[in-house]
Amino acid sequence: MTQGVAGGRVTELLAGWGTTAPTVAHVRTPKTATEVAALLGDNHPRGLLPRGLGRAYGDAAQNAGGLVVRTSALDHIDVDESAATVTVGAGVSLDALLRVALPRGLFVPVTPGTRWVTCGGALACDVHGKNHHVDGSWSRHVSRFGLATPRGMLDDVLPGSPEFAATAGGMGLTGLITDMTMQLIRVPTGAIVVDTERTPDLDACMARMLDNDADYRYSVAWLDCLARGGKAGRGVLTRGNHAEVGDLPGGARRDPLHYAPTTRLTAPRGLPSGLLNRRAVTAFNAAYYHRAPAHATGVESLAGYFYPLDVMSHWNRMYGPRGFLQYQYAVPYGQEDVVHQTLRRLEAAGCPSYLAVFKRFGPQDGLLAFPLEGWTLALDIPAGAPGLARVLDGLDELVADAGGRVYLAKDSRLRPDLLPAMYPRLDEWRAIRDKLDPEATMRSDLSRRLGLV
Ligand SMILES: Cc1cc2nc3c(=O)[nH]c(=O)nc-3n(C[C@H](O)[C@H](O)[C@H](O)COP(=O)(O)OP(=O)(O)OC[C@H]3O[C@@H](n4cnc5c(N)ncnc54)[C@H](O)[C@@H]3O)c2cc1C
Repeated sequence: MTQGVAGGRVTELLAGWGTTAPTVAHVRTPKTATEVAALLGDNHPRGLLPRGLGRAYGDAAQNAGGLVVRTSALDHIDVDESAATVTVGAGVSLDALLRVALPRGLFVPVTPGTRWVTCGGALACDVHGKNHHVDGSWSRHVSRFGLATPRGMLDDVLPGSPEFAATAGGMGLTGLITDMTMQLIRVPTGAIVVDTERTPDLDACMARMLDNDADYRYSVAWLDCLARGGKAGRGVLTRGNHAEVGDLPGGARRDPLHYAPTTRLTAPRGLPSGLLNRRAVTAFNAAYYHRAPAHATGVESLAGYFYPLDVMSHWNRMYGPRGFLQYQYAVPYGQEDVVHQTLRRLEAAGCPSYLAVFKRFGPQDGLLAFPLEGWTLALDIPAGAPGLARVLDGLDELVADAGGRVYLAKDSRLRPDLLPAMYPRLDEWRAIRDKLDPEATMRSDLSRRLGLV
C-alpha cells in the first residue's frame, strides 16, 4: 500500500485483502515484545491496532487516523522436536513456520487457505481449516500466549482464563499477542492423499459429506454458483488424509518431507474491473467441474491441497480497482435451506459468486468465535455487483434467524444491529475486554463500524 512520512511518522494507506475500503494510519514496527509493551503503555487518542499480513478480507486490520502496529519483526521460531511444540513470535507467517517445521516431520494442526497469514492473526481471528469437524480451530492447540495490553504485559495467558477466551477470536481488540506456544502434529510426508469426486447438486454434496467425512481429516467442497436449474450448487468435493511414505511416487520417497512451495505468477497492478465477468467465469466453472474426475484418488503436495490460490501473488488485483468481498457465514445443521436460498437469491439478483467454498464445522467454544456446529459457506463476490448490498442484507437476516453468524475476519458490510443475535456472548466478551483496556485504546475500522468496543 502507498506510504508517506508526516511529522516524522510513517503513514500508510492500508486495506484488507478485498481492497474495498482502504484508510490511512500511522504505522510502527516494534522489534521486541518490550518495545511493544512500551508502545501500548503510551497514550493513543486515535486508538491502536495490531496488524499481521493484512489477509483479513474487510476492515479488521485497519485503524483510520490512528496507530497500526505491524508484528513482522516478532519473528522468532523455536521448535521442540521431542514434544512436537513450537514457540513463535506473533509475526511469524505460516509460510516461515512450515519451512522450519515440515522438514522435521511437523505440521500445523489448523491451517487457513493461504500460508500468508501470521500466527498472531490466526489466533486473533481463531481461524479454522478444512478439518474443523475433527480438530477445531487454531486456539484449541495453543497452550499459552503473551499479550501486551494497554494496562501492562501478560506473559503467560493460559487456556481457560478469561483473557484467553476474549483474545482468541477477539480481532486484536484485547491487546497485541506477542508470541505463543502451540502443539504441532507429526506427519510422515509433505503430501496429502486426496479423494476427489463430483457432486451433481448441493443436496448430493451435503449427503456425501455427512455420510463419510469421518474417514477424512480434511474435507472441502467447491460449488459452481453459476450453474442453473437442476445443476445449481453442483460441485467438486476434495477430501484427504496425510500421505504415508508408501503412498508417494517412487522418486518422492527419497525426500518425503520436501516442502518448497513457490509463487509462479504475479497479478499485475491496474487491472480493470470486470475482468472476472460472468461469461468468462461461467465457462471456467463448467470446465473445472467437467475436468474433475467422477471419483478418483491421487496424491497432492501440502501446498497444492491447502494453498492453491497462493500460486499467484496479489491475485486480489484480478478484481480490479473496486475490489471484492468475501461473504462467509455458518449455520447449524437443520438450516440447509439457508444455503439453498443463498444460491437462489444471488442467481436471481444476477450477482453470483465466482468462488464458493463449502465446509463443515464441529463443536466450538469461544466468546467471539465464528465456527458453530453445522455448515459454512464462503463466497467471493466483486464489490460493484449490482443489487449486491440488498441481497447480502437479506441473507444476513436469514442467517441470524437461523441461529447462524457472519465471519468478522471476512466482513466489510454487516449491519451492527444483527451482531448480538449472531454473537450471543458479545456482552461477556465486552466485559473482559473492558477490564483489559478500560480506555478503549484498542480500536479498528471494524470495531467502530460494528460498535464492538
Ligand atoms: C486466500 C485466503 C484464504 C483464507 N482462508 C481462511 C480459512 O480457510 N479459514 C479462516 O479462518 N480464515 C481464512 N482466511 C482469513 C485469514 O486466515 C485471517 O483473516 C487471518 O487472521 C489473517 O492473518 P493476518 O496475519 O493477515 O492478520 P491481519 O489480516 O493483519 O489481521 C486480522 C485481525 O487479527 C488482528 N491481529 C493480527 N495480529 C495480531 C496480534 N499479533 N495480536 C492481536 N491481534 C492481531 C488484527 O488486529 C485484525 O483484527 C483467508 C484469507 C485469505 C486471503
